Amino acid sequence: MLKIQKLDFTYNTENQILFSLDIDLRKGEIISILGESGSGKSTLLKLIYGLEDATSGCIIYKNERVSGPKFNLIPGHKDMKFVSQEFDLLDSIRVSENVGKYLSNIDLELKKSKVLNALKVVDLMEFKDAFPSKLSGGQRQRVSIARALAAEPEVLLLDEPYSHLDHPLKFKIRRNIWNWAKENKCTLILTTHDVSDAFGFSDRIIVLKEGKIQQNDSPELMREKPINEYVASILGSYSILNSNQMKDLGMKEIPKNKKIIFYPEEIFEDEKGSAFKILDSRFQGKEYLVEVQKKDVKLWYYSDKKPKSKCIKLGFKEDIQRYI
Ligand code: ADP
Ligand code: MG
Repeated sequence: MLKIQKLDFTYNTENQILFSLDIDLRKGEIISILGESGSGKSTLLKLIYGLEDATSGCIIYKNERVSGPKFNLIPGHKDMKFVSQEFDLLDSIRVSENVGKYLSNIDLELKKSKVLNALKVVDLMEFKDAFPSKLSGGQRQRVSIARALAAEPEVLLLDEPYSHLDHPLKFKIRRNIWNWAKENKCTLILTTHDVSDAFGFSDRIIVLKEGKIQQNDSPELMREKPINEYVASILGSYSILNSNQMKDLGMKEIPKNKKIIFYPEEIFEDEKGSAFKILDSRFQGKEYLVEVQKKDVKLWYYSDKKPKSKCIKLGFKEDIQRYI
């Protein structure tokens, strides 16, 4: 439904920002664009919405080219809504009026129900009559998300939608937005630098680094088979070993030019395993993440208890084939 083909983009400077991006989206899919600050996430959303013109390549939506300001007087695609990181709310009108801004006044009952529904999704019902100037940054962000939801766009583009939310609320709103998008068969593309926004709340994750797509896969596949060490690193803790290090530890052979990645849950205490020196242990809320070392090999594994000794013998889960 939405096709991005060989998309290059440069602002009016020498630095190229996006490099030959290819992305194919199905109707109703929820995609997270995961990347560090400056990787080009916001720029990509602006291009999809038609706020910038591609330097080369194209974006096709429902078989038509999305054009930017050079070819389109009214900025923004009519079937899409874009919630940028600057929430341009009108402080002179109430929250509910802001949320209803894009809606027709022909059927006022319908308008009201759409506004209230959208406010429910972002958990702001109690603020419907407030003025935006009285709200916190996070609340203002949620009003601007509600305004986009109320318009029931076919494609919704959310730029770092959870960046101002504290944790319990973040969990609730992420789930509400997921449910809303699925119920409304809305194609949702959101950006984030936080992997916890992407896992569990997207059908697909696209990892962007310095304007280049590193990997574009389901969250499960990305975790199981990260394409390179950068992707593994953005997903959380991991250990990486080359073939010599595997051999030194008396572990299985891996191809000479490859490395293997283990996650902390795949390394465990084992009386018959190799001895490692314990460097550090940090409580993660459920278990301890323990850092250990042997010669030039550093590993991370989970332990139920805080390790008391200075040394530990470790083994590895056997059937891991996560080579890069
Ligand atoms: P992200 O959203 O991932 O943080 P951005 O898309 O905002 O990344 O920015 C990507 C790069 O483009 C950054 O190096 C940023 O400095 C540059 N950039 C962003 N907006 C502009 C602009 N209007 N003019 C020139 N450079 C820009
Ligand atoms: Mg950004």
